[in-house]
Amino acid sequence: MSQASGPSAAAAPGAHLLPSYLQADKLGPWGIYLQQVDRVIPYLGNLARWAETLKRPKRILIVDVPIHMDDGTVAHFEGYRVQHNVSRGPGKGGVRFHQDVTLSEVMALSAWMSVKNAAVNVPYGGAKGGIRVDPKKLSLGELERITRRYTSEIGIIIGPNKDIPAPDVNTNEQIMAWMMDTYSMNTGSTATGVVTGKPVDLGGSLGRREATGRGVFTVGAEAAKHIGLDIAGSRVAIQGFGNVGGVAGKLFAEAGARVVAVQDHGGTIYREAGLDVPALLKHVQETGSVSGFAQAEVITNDQFWDVDCDILIPAALEQQITAANAGRIKARMIIEGANGPTTPEADDILQERNVLVLPDVIANAGGVTVSYFEWVQDFSSFFWDEDEINARLVKIMKGAFAGIWQVAQDNKVSLRTAAFIVACTRILRTRELRGLYP
Ligand code: NAD
Repeated sequence: MSQASGPSAAAAPGAHLLPSYLQADKLGPWGIYLQQVDRVIPYLGNLARWAETLKRPKRILIVDVPIHMDDGTVAHFEGYRVQHNVSRGPGKGGVRFHQDVTLSEVMALSAWMSVKNAAVNVPYGGAKGGIRVDPKKLSLGELERITRRYTSEIGIIIGPNKDIPAPDVNTNEQIMAWMMDTYSMNTGSTATGVVTGKPVDLGGSLGRREATGRGVFTVGAEAAKHIGLDIAGSRVAIQGFGNVGGVAGKLFAEAGARVVAVQDHGGTIYREAGLDVPALLKHVQETGSVSGFAQAEVITNDQFWDVDCDILIPAALEQQITAANAGRIKARMIIEGANGPTTPEADDILQERNVLVLPDVIANAGGVTVSYFEWVQDFSSFFWDEDEINARLVKIMKGAFAGIWQVAQDNKVSLRTAAFIVACTRILRTRELRGLYP
């Protein structure tokens, strides 16, 4: 091989050339994740030399998902599975069905899974998947066919020891059951551990459905002690009232908080005295949305950001709290049930205004923690009772939060940067220990 020479030869060929799919979308979710990583690099010491690892997903699979529609036509959908990092263990992360899913979004969500799994120290890397589809427009049969074809297409990179999907926005236990069955039929043996968030009858775990909301509540209650906020009597506003927001709302209400405002895709409702959360959950189950709930007044989606509250829980989609509304938020504490709901500019505004942000990578890690329990139970075919699961979940969440709180205090940084310091250090330490092969 010839000796490299000249100014441009100092770096390895291509070292600074970003793949095309990483160049675009600086303001999108992936761009936001990169900004979050840049903020943490100064705290990584010698491990910072491996930081480029964090900025490049390990593996990206884009698949065509053709299915027979009920009207006899064939429709094609775009599906993704991204494995951001697998240094610490198999990829792990949900599957999202949504009309706005993009590669940038799935890349960012997969990276946040790497960080989250390392932040709570479960032995996984980070992955995420999605299909660009509005599942509300599919019949049940079409939903099953799109799920099964997608699972077959990504079947070449998933598996109980490779990458383990789970539910996310618009996916649920039934979809996990179809994914598990499809993978099992293709591989010729029942592989319960290929997905988590399954029905309990199929090797799912007790407590999994409520786990993310329970984690949101647990971390919120811990943080409230630090800022002298009493959960009983506090006012809570929630954006997104699905798996995460609905369960979190229920637990806060049970602890004596008043859930004063809820927003979902159908609109925003408000009641100063506090909404009747069990009745609202029933209404959403029956109608699909909070809109039309009789015992509340309707406010505009924009007014939601002005609501007088102590705790705000974004539990819907990314980039909801931005420079445009961060200055209006009245809450003392924001608990990120959703992934990536706050932009870096909004983070800065909130920090300046002394609003405590509990970042997604710790606040919503309860789901993946119980997913880890589910996977362990599937491997051992030995199942724990719900009390044991909840107790273990609370122990992990409290321990992880306490560690991150301390790192934030020691370094005088936000909880997000602290969580990234803890997580990225763990990820890059394994990267260094494993070395490069070949
Ligand atoms: P879900 O599908 O059960 O609920 C989503 C909720 O968001 C619904 O109430 C929906 O109406 C609402 N929503 C959708 N678009 C909206 C919009 N434009 N404005 C306001 N509300 C809107 O999904 P989920 O599982 O509860 O996930 C919610 C968030 O939590 C996502 O960011 C997801 O990645 C994150 N999360 C989920 C889990 C989990 O275990 N399910 C774990 C960690 C993080």
